Amino acid sequence: MQLLEDRITQDGKVYPGNVLKVDSFLNHQIDCDLMTQLGAEIVRRFDGENITKVLTVEASGIAFAFAVASLLGVPMVFAKKSQTNNLSPNVYNAKVVSYTHSTTYDVRVEKEFILPTDKVLIVDDFLANGAALTGLADIITQAGAKVVGCAIAIEKGFQDGGKIVRGQGIRVESLAIIEKMTNSSITFRN
Ligand code: 5GP
Repeated sequence: MQLLEDRITQDGKVYPGNVLKVDSFLNHQIDCDLMTQLGAEIVRRFDGENITKVLTVEASGIAFAFAVASLLGVPMVFAKKSQTNNLSPNVYNAKVVSYTHSTTYDVRVEKEFILPTDKVLIVDDFLANGAALTGLADIITQAGAKVVGCAIAIEKGFQDGGKIVRGQGIRVESLAIIEKMTNSSITFRN
């Protein structure tokens, strides 16, 4: 999507460890108008899929997931990363290896929020090695619900996540796919 690619080129910063910082518009400070336009493009691509719920993981996926869910008119659920007191013991649980923090954490969703009748769209800001998406898909499967697909803002195409998740037969739609990035340039896949 040209709009997103232009914004990444303008404001994205490449950090060591193949980390792209886009926190001035996507996942720390949020450009709400841009987010709405990204959400609309996802809704267009998944038209006709009868999605009943959007699922993401806290925290950086929440804004994008909210935009998509709001335009679809369905609830957005975010998986929690910590077992806080206000989570019941009645949760689905999956393990995720964090790309940005190099740690493993559990993600949890209250069982009552994903039902076997749900058709769930997974949404996240980034796709790198695919651990977050795989963990969320695992939770949906545990619930007996359907994974409609994954909607990603930025896929780092030089990492393996896209191949892994698509290889599991899951549809992945990414609005910008980065082929290569260095300190001075970012190249997108056509
Ligand atoms: P994966 O699980 O696919 O390896 O990584 C995806 C998750 O890691 C996303 O939820 C995102 O928060 C984070 N992530 C991965 N790569 C990047 C990156 O280059 N920049 C930022 N800001 N987050 C990333």
